[in-house]
Amino acid sequence: MKGKIIILSAPSGTGKSTIISHIIERAELRLGFSISATSRSPRGSERDGREYYFLTPDEFGRRVAAGDFVEWEEVYPGTCYGTLKSEVERVVGEGRNLIMDIDVKGGLNVKKYFGSRALTIFILPPSLEELERRLRGRATDSEEALERRLGKARYELGFADDYDVRVVNDDIDRASDEVADAIMRFIEVEEEVADEV
Ligand code: 5GP
Repeated sequence: MKGKIIILSAPSGTGKSTIISHIIERAELRLGFSISATSRSPRGSERDGREYYFLTPDEFGRRVAAGDFVEWEEVYPGTCYGTLKSEVERVVGEGRNLIMDIDVKGGLNVKKYFGSRALTIFILPPSLEELERRLRGRATDSEEALERRLGKARYELGFADDYDVRVVNDDIDRASDEVADAIMRFIEVEEEVADEV
């Protein structure tokens, strides 16, 4: 049986990383995290093969030309990110379902690539006001960076309806349960279909 592809997207500040860290612990979901490749250099304590596969810009370009990516994007000017086909095979080869933390454009491209084998989940903040409050609470951004993040969040929220499932993160445990349930239902239905064939 082939593993399934779970795509999680959300504007920054929505609690997506925390939700992923909760659901990845659920053994019954058999999830394996997809490590993206990037053309930027490692930051701080980042290690190759842990946070990202760090490729030189030349190497990244060569692998794009070779058709090695499921999807890739120039997320920041001059800096590319993408999911390697070999990464999907690595996780699925371990008998796991692949979970991807990816932006809206990338997420919808991956869905196009995998079709009904993929489930797309969008995490929503309770409201834009609440998202702004959470981002301000972090206090790590300048006012300008905060405005940029909020602008991007408004843009990304416009894609929520294109996702299969939407989950409002008003409470981290409840939202994590809802995401886990949606994944379980998707895996079970697909398994039943696979069993019938
Ligand atoms: P970072 O701060 O880690 O350098 O940048 C992360 C950005 O790259 C985020 O916007 C994230 O959504 C995006 N990103 C990370 N991995 C991928 C990927 O595999 N594909 C695409 N399209 N975007 C990615």
